[in-house]
Amino acid sequence: MTMMERELSGIGVGRGLVVGDVRRMPDPLPEPPPALSSLTPDAELLRAKEALTETSADLRDRGVRAGGLAQEVLDALALMADDPMLLADVTARIGKGATAERAVFDAFAAFASIMEAAGGYMAERAGDLSDVANRVIARILGVAAPGVPESATPYVLVARDLAPADTALLDYDIVQALVTTEGGPTSHTAILAREKGLPAIVGAKEAAGLVDGDVILVDAADGEIVVHPSAERIKNALREDSERRLSRAQSTGPGRLSDGHAVALLANVGSPDSAGAASEASAEGVGLFRTEFLFLDAESAPSVEAQQAQYESVFEQFAGQKVVVRVLDAGADKPLPFLTDDREENPALGLRGIRALFAHEEILRDQLTAIHRASLSTHADVWVMAPMISTVDETIKFVSMCHEIGLTNAGVMVETPSSALLAQHIIAEADFVSVGTNDLTQYTVAADRLLGTVAALQDPWNPAVLRLIHEVGRAGAAAGKPVGVCGEAAADPLLAVVLVGLGATSLSMSPIALADVREELSRHTLSEARKLAEIAVSASNAVDAKRGVSSALKR
Ligand code: PEP
Ligand code: MG
Repeated sequence: MTMMERELSGIGVGRGLVVGDVRRMPDPLPEPPPALSSLTPDAELLRAKEALTETSADLRDRGVRAGGLAQEVLDALALMADDPMLLADVTARIGKGATAERAVFDAFAAFASIMEAAGGYMAERAGDLSDVANRVIARILGVAAPGVPESATPYVLVARDLAPADTALLDYDIVQALVTTEGGPTSHTAILAREKGLPAIVGAKEAAGLVDGDVILVDAADGEIVVHPSAERIKNALREDSERRLSRAQSTGPGRLSDGHAVALLANVGSPDSAGAASEASAEGVGLFRTEFLFLDAESAPSVEAQQAQYESVFEQFAGQKVVVRVLDAGADKPLPFLTDDREENPALGLRGIRALFAHEEILRDQLTAIHRASLSTHADVWVMAPMISTVDETIKFVSMCHEIGLTNAGVMVETPSSALLAQHIIAEADFVSVGTNDLTQYTVAADRLLGTVAALQDPWNPAVLRLIHEVGRAGAAAGKPVGVCGEAAADPLLAVVLVGLGATSLSMSPIALADVREELSRHTLSEARKLAEIAVSASNAVDAKRGVSSALKR
């Protein structure tokens, strides 16, 4: 280690490794003081108008350069700076003696509260107003504008966290990696980084001390940042990274641990189109076919024939492979007008999933009939499962209905703490179970999975969630029945190893994640996976669980 070299850690997202120069996102501007202006109102108004016009032109300019969705976001922001009502309010405030910066600050704040009061989409956009206000105020004061720094050369972006408007602006050719001092593994920023394949480390508190121009090595797989890395450190890290990439590129075929223990790697699909990506990523089949995605626009229940045609077009792409079809999971963020009641106050806790289907049994029977017919006319190995099961009685009712219709492989999803704790009894009645970690996490920590303010709680590394999954794994092993995992957790390579250690026999995920998970599994034996699982379940919180597993691997 050279004198200068030091290590910082956080929560890694993705697998990449990058060495680059730090560019910090400027800190938010302080609130302008409410002191009265010493200039004339005309002079203040000129300052405000110039800054508003320049900000709007700058936003449009950047939009033209960025194109696509980013342009739409930026044009919408420019319109806010151009708004005539806003200018009228700024003018009135300046007329009463305010400085340009204070008038802009107050006028935008007043505008934001009107949008918040309007609710819905308008309320969601209110946050963007403060971003525009800050840009205008920065111009008035002649300081660096907040937001993603502009640069012609690549850099590693270091920020507290990114606002949605910032993420739209990221140029992936320039931003090589992302480090945030705040935010958790399921924050908006982390999800975006994972989706785009951008190496990121979130929640790295000590990165607050990094300054522009610091050279850092970002190793997302290990959640490690090395500040001023030595030449040798860089060389070794890059060599390891290229070995990792190579073994990832070579790791095709069925999922296996290093001792040959098979873990089927399956894909989550929502439509015949997404099934194509699954076969390209050499998925061994489908572990979760979200059928409700096919009918989100339907006003009335689809006919047996219409459903059969849709299912056939997915099954045909997986001849000889397993396809686990989930019956309609309506409710909460996926309302289906013919199944759900939109007057519920807490739809995530309401008549959703299997509960809604039992309340409309004819719809469930039609769907099972369509799945059965489609399975007979194609060559996929069709399994069927029910979402949102919380009792043994629901399991018995669903499984017997499937068997009666001729579907021989009928299972249930474990998405509620009650079904995890009753796993032994539930699995005795089902042919298999599949753990939905997204909902299981939401219900275990009692935090709405769609709500940004509680997003940090939505972490499947939470040992409470892992303990519940362990119950399910043990029950599956005792009964000799398959235990799948099909939530986002399965797409996190390290967590995937832990899930196998807890007893998962197959993992299903979005196709983009398959290669990394396949590669990581191939590095560990079953007994190692069990040891890592033990470390994770014994931790007292999600961050320690992940850190404990990462550091056990470094030893
Ligand atoms: C889950 O809850 O983990 C799951 C796979 O189902 P969905 O995300 O569709 O609710
Ligand atoms: Mg679910």
